[in-house]
Amino acid sequence: MPGIIERYRERLPFAAGDPVVSLQEGSTPLVLAERLSEETGLEVWLKLEGANPTGSFKDRGMTCAVSAAVREGARAVICASTGNTAASAAAYSAKAGLRGAVIVPEGKIATGKLAQALMHGARVVALRGNFDEALKLVREVVSRHPISLVNSVNDYRIEGQKTAAFEIVEALAGELQALCIPVGNAGNITAYWKGFREAGVEPRMLGFQAAGAAPLVHGRPVEHPETIASAIRIGNPARWEEAMDAMTSSGGAVKAVSDAEILAAYRFLAANEGVFCEPASAASVAGLLVHGVGEDVHRVVCVLTGHGLKDPQTALEQAGAVVACDPELGAIERAVLE
Ligand SMILES: *Cc1c(COP(=O)(O)O)cnc(C)c1O
Repeated sequence: MPGIIERYRERLPFAAGDPVVSLQEGSTPLVLAERLSEETGLEVWLKLEGANPTGSFKDRGMTCAVSAAVREGARAVICASTGNTAASAAAYSAKAGLRGAVIVPEGKIATGKLAQALMHGARVVALRGNFDEALKLVREVVSRHPISLVNSVNDYRIEGQKTAAFEIVEALAGELQALCIPVGNAGNITAYWKGFREAGVEPRMLGFQAAGAAPLVHGRPVEHPETIASAIRIGNPARWEEAMDAMTSSGGAVKAVSDAEILAAYRFLAANEGVFCEPASAASVAGLLVHGVGEDVHRVVCVLTGHGLKDPQTALEQAGAVVACDPELGAIERAVLE
């Protein structure tokens, strides 16, 4: 499959002949979740965005943001990030031959994401502060220097990310009544809603935030956001108004799920659906299980935003222990069969 710019060019702000920086993102699997369907009495589908080139949906937005940066003649890109934007920006700027700088909250990003950003050669800056402070600072940096900002405040990010909604509409022939999605900086829910409306479909948009980082649920910014789901550890979402508009105009809602509920969904998906996502992604399924989707829904899609391998530390803390064994047949049999 080509990348999303080639696949959907007529619905994106790119003309034939414009530079395209792509790693063939998009065209991700949409998998029927049989156990979850049984559990909920609904038909539940999982959009596996962890199958993108760097392991998260951010690649859909990044191919557009970086391609536009190249078109504009930028030499460097910058972002604030809870991890996945950094990994994606680093990869796409490496592919484009641009310099990349990523500002992450010190000690608060998952190991896999840090490894990616460093391996792709980005300048990784660990800020002694949180994501919201990082975003405020990078916005100031780009107002003073000719560097392209590739956070989801960049409209090209939204354009790219709306293509996931196109894929879902195509795969299900437009027949879905609800979408469950984790919400952090609120760019992705904004993008899905835009994509659905452009495709002429209006499923109920159900956004889920971690209880310790739920500004949209409380209706005010959270000064010290806290959650195990580091990708959505954000206290003052940049796309606040648009996300609320998506949820109200579609008859949806924004609700909170606790870290314990997120981790339960995270383990359930891995053990029962064969799908290993990162904790933030599991907030969509936690929301489905804890809050439901309301009346008159037959088919629902849960967006699993990032791959489980991004955060091996949380996985090892949540998983069972390995079984030690001496190298002899009897011991192996006991270890395997008991
Ligand atoms: C970025 C991210 C989110 C949140 O998306 P927003 O657009 O910031 O709301 C959720 N899950 C994962 C894995 C992410 O990387």
